[in-house]
Parts: sequence; C-alpha cells; structure tokens
Amino acid sequence: FNKPWLDFTGRTYEQERGDGWAQGVHAEDLQHCLKVYNEAFEARGPFEMEYRLRRADGVHRWIIDCGVPRFLADGTFAGYIGSCLDITDRKDAELQLQEQRRELTHLSRVAIVGELSGALAHELNQPLTAILSNAQAAQRRLANDPTDLAEIHEILADIVDEDKRAGEVIRRLRALLKKGETQLQTLNLNDLANEVLNLAHGDFVSRGVVVAKQFSAQLPAVRGDRVQLQQVLLNLIGNACDAMRHNAPSDRVLTVTTQADGHGAIEVAIIDRGSGIEDVAKDRLFEPFFTTKEHGLGLGLTICRTIVSAHGGRLWGADNTARGASFHVSLPAHDGASM
Ligand code: ADP
Repeated sequence: FNKPWLDFTGRTYEQERGDGWAQGVHAEDLQHCLKVYNEAFEARGPFEMEYRLRRADGVHRWIIDCGVPRFLADGTFAGYIGSCLDITDRKDAELQLQEQRRELTHLSRVAIVGELSGALAHELNQPLTAILSNAQAAQRRLANDPTDLAEIHEILADIVDEDKRAGEVIRRLRALLKKGETQLQTLNLNDLANEVLNLAHGDFVSRGVVVAKQFSAQLPAVRGDRVQLQQVLLNLIGNACDAMRHNAPSDRVLTVTTQADGHGAIEVAIIDRGSGIEDVAKDRLFEPFFTTKEHGLGLGLTICRTIVSAHGGRLWGADNTARGASFHVSLPAHDGASM
C-alpha cells in the first residue's frame, strides 16, 4: 500500500495490510470482491475487479483494481503487485449516457407511435365518416319513404365499399410499414378520379357540395398504387369541402380537372371556392401536424405529399385568382402510353 492509497483511505499501513483493506470495501461489493481476489490468489493468476472503496471523507468511490502475481527468479510466489484507479467520474458519465440513450430510444418510440396512430386515425376517418353519413342518409330515406328500397340498396353498396376501403387502408399501411412496398400498376387518372368521386359521393350529398368535372379525354397512363393515390385525392377533396363549409349551398362547387401538361406529366387539380389558404398556413401546409382546423390533425397534406413524392410526382397548393384554393397533383406519364 503506497502513500496515495493510504491518503485516499485515510488509514495506516498496519490497518490495511493482510485483509485489512477489505474493511473499506462497500458492503454490497465485498463478497464479489473477495471471491475474485481469492480465486486469483489460489490460482496465482492476475485479476481485475471493480468495487466501491470508502475514501477518507467517508464517500464511496468506484475503483478499478488490477493485480498481477509476482514470482522470484526460482519461481517462488512472492505476492501481488497491483494498481487502483478511481473511475467514479467515468462511471457517472457512462451511466448518464446510458440513461440519456434509454430516454432517447423511448422518446423516438413514443414519437413514432404517436405519428403512426395519428396517421391511422386520419386515414380511417374518411371511410368512417363516409359510412356514417351514408347510414344516416339511409335512416332519413327510410323515415321518409320506407318503400323506396332502390336508393337504400345503393347506399348500402356505398357503405360496403367504404368499409372495404377502411380495411384496405389498414392492410396497406401495415404492408407499407413492413417493407415500405407499394403495389404499382398502370392507371388512368380519369378512372381514378371517377372512382374517388364515387367514393366521396355520400360526403358530397351530406355536405351539399356539387361536383364539376373537366377531364381531358386523351390521357397518358401513369404508374402508381391505386389505393394510395385514391387516398391523396380523397384528402384533397375533403380539404376542399372543409374550405367551403361556410359557403351558401349554391356556392359549394368542387371542380376536378385532369390534363397532360405537355412536359411528360399528368396533372389532377382539385379546385374549390372556399376562403383560400390562410396567411399563417401559406408556408406550412405540408408540415406534419400543422392545422388551422379545430378538430384537424394536420397530417393529411403531409401524407399526401409523401405518397406523391414516392410516385416521382409533385403536390402543391395555391390560392385561385378569383377565390378559393387549388391543389395540384402531378405524376409522370408512363412511357407516353395512352389509355
Ligand atoms: P387538416 O385537414 O387536418 O388540417 P391537412 O394537412 O390536410 O390537415 O391541412 C393542413 C392545413 O392546410 C389546413 O388546416 C388548412 O389550413 C390548409 N388547407 C388545406 N387544404 C385547404 C384548402 N382547400 N383551402 C384552404 N386551406 C387549406
């Protein structure tokens, strides 16, 4: 035991010699400490152990203690020589780092779960709202004229479609999460827009929105995932209807246009007559969780842009010259093929 050791423990050489030093080892570490030490001693082997040792001021410090056996020239065992290092500061830093890492992992997990459940809720909200408004429409019809079953059949068919879509959204989102895969097929955007307008039919009726279509007759095909692109258009249509909710009923007109832009892309535009994009929203439309709506989630446009970008396309929105806003989806034409 050299002077630094004795200074550290504040004890005398006589107190430390033999097994005396073990009295300064923290009670919780003593057993392990003696086990390592004794085993090495019996085997005349080197050892390395960490334990807490009481300092002269009574504070326990973490020590790394390394020892090697010494032998005389004729091979006789001559005890151990060892060195000790106070590693308390290093250990504290390590612990802190570990704690921070745990915290970070937890946080990012929470963030991912939060974002995903938000996205799921958002995507499912549309079919669920459509199912509800269809079911309510059916109730009203039945109350007015219980014999008019033709309309009820149609409404029930819509409900079945919407329900399947909700299932498909979950299935596709899970597939997306698993492998990040999409199912690409050759699509005609006129057909896709028509499908979406049919899906949203119940919503248009309940919100008193009239649809005007301006489709270009000859449209090159695009490659894309049908359900994801339907999702995009439905989102944009939902936003357009939201924007017109304060309009007079005769003024709730939604225009959907399709056209080839002449530069190898096909463009679908959703044009509303709403109040236009609010100033605070102008630069933040596509930010996750940005919303100006009381019950908005602010994920719709974020998801739409992610989907459109994954298709090699672009999505943007702007105010119309007269009134309202337009959102444009532009997708690359597929090999110039016409459908
Ligand atoms: P949410 O619909 O939940 O608010 P979105 O990401 O779809 O989320 O939209 C973000 C914001 O963009 C809306 O809260 C709104 O301020 C603005 N916005 C989107 N579409 C339109 C539109 N057609 N007209 C005016 N503002 C719009």
